[in-house]
Amino acid sequence: MTTFDYAPALESRTIVTIDPQYGHFINGSFTKGSNHFASINPSDETVLSHIALGSAQDIDTAVDAARVAYESVWSKLSGKERGKYLYRIARILQERAREFAVLESLDNGKPIRESRDVDVPLAAAHFFYHAGWADKLDYAGMGNSPRPHGVAGQIIPWNFPILMLSWKIAPALAAGNTVVLKPAETTSLTALLFAQVCQQAELPAGVVNIVTGDGSTGAALVEHPGIDKIAFTGSTEVGKAIARAIAPTKKKATLELGGKAANIVFEDAPIDETVEGIVNGIFFNQGHVCCAGSRLLLQEDVAEEVLSKLKVRMAKIRVGDPLDKNTDLGAINSSEQLLKIRDLSKSGDDEGAERWSPPCAVPEKGFWFPPTIFTGVTQAHRIAREEIFGPVLSVLTFRTPQEAIEKANNTPYGLSAGIWSEKGSRILWAAGQLKAGVIWANTFNKFDPASPFGGYKESGWGREGGRHGLTAYLKDAESNNE
Ligand code: NAP
Ligand code: MG
Repeated sequence: MTTFDYAPALESRTIVTIDPQYGHFINGSFTKGSNHFASINPSDETVLSHIALGSAQDIDTAVDAARVAYESVWSKLSGKERGKYLYRIARILQERAREFAVLESLDNGKPIRESRDVDVPLAAAHFFYHAGWADKLDYAGMGNSPRPHGVAGQIIPWNFPILMLSWKIAPALAAGNTVVLKPAETTSLTALLFAQVCQQAELPAGVVNIVTGDGSTGAALVEHPGIDKIAFTGSTEVGKAIARAIAPTKKKATLELGGKAANIVFEDAPIDETVEGIVNGIFFNQGHVCCAGSRLLLQEDVAEEVLSKLKVRMAKIRVGDPLDKNTDLGAINSSEQLLKIRDLSKSGDDEGAERWSPPCAVPEKGFWFPPTIFTGVTQAHRIAREEIFGPVLSVLTFRTPQEAIEKANNTPYGLSAGIWSEKGSRILWAAGQLKAGVIWANTFNKFDPASPFGGYKESGWGREGGRHGLTAYLKDAESNNE
């Protein structure tokens, strides 16, 4: 078979200006901030900028600004007027799309192909979609004149920085809330660029506030008495801590947590398409995806064929510079995450699963992990139960459809699942049995702002996106969240 080498096709980074140091974005302007820490490029470990560590005092100032903006401006605007600001933000995100995509790839390590074609367009789509809702809330069957909660505290992870920001801010603003958002420690830069977009859109001061920092900053936000609603995306562990912290209060919360999705391949699946779907399911965004198809369940009759084709396909995955337009798999976001992936993979070796990766040279500097599969995995193995959050696939087999469902549901999580089969009846049967918030059939990792997203069990509370997601930002709205 002929293979082609690709000449590098680097996206230029000159479109992006990164300040050496940033403060917080509070009440419409940037503060100086203090206790700055370095934000690095995970593909080469160079320092990109210095980010301010938000204190409880910074959170307090930001929550006050959000409260004043809520009471004096935002809650007084009509839905139509709020919608205009959201449309404006959406259009600016489109106009500055390349800037956002390059900055996201620099700060996060994800391939430019993905930040350019997925993260940034979807972020803009979330603002467009919710802009359209702002003046229709009274007529959507969400109860009598649904009202906003007030000030929302929002905390997001590092895997989809600008996209998670838009999932949080767009519905909150459309529903009439003001927000204080804390980005993840390792990926604050696109949130700070978004703050500039708010200024450019002339969004009234205090409607959006961004306080950077670490877990302690997030905890201060959760505990602040001026917060009416918490929206969190991150690990199940921190989600549980947040649930405990707000239990004695009247704060509302939505929690989007972890996952360990089953991607189920039945014997009648279209094999070539399925192999593409498996690759997309686990190697998209280096596997740093809460809904990743990280447990592959293969029906025994086709297991050998699927695995041999999967290995051929995996050998073509190009690992390397995130800014190279040919790159399929970029850098792991942080050294901590790389250690976690290595540790869980080692447990796979120790517990008797068989590891395979294609020959693949990774750069010397930076944080890298090759695309990896483990075969011979059993339900008892840690790699079948725990979220690896990296480019590592655990492969299990099954004999009967019922066994596939039992294995798929045998997890504390329930965020997503995939079904591959040519028979519509089998797909509908399996979808009805699976305990997962999102189920894809003959595709994987497809997202749309109109489609609610969220989990069962330890994958979280509530939904984001669509009409369901909006209800979480409205008082007394009829929710249908589970
Ligand atoms: P994480 O450690 O839970 O962090 C998420 C966010 O919470 C970060 O901004 C983090 O700040 C902050 N934080 C940490 N400790 C906190 C505390 N005690 N109180 C309040 N906030 C706190 O999760 P991660 O490792 O960044 O992200 C990976 C996890 O997110 C995975 O488990 C993944 O499945 C999940 N995830 C879920 C979804 C979903 O929609 N369900 C989407 C994406 C990711 P620092 O970054 O500064 O520590
Ligand atoms: Mg970074």
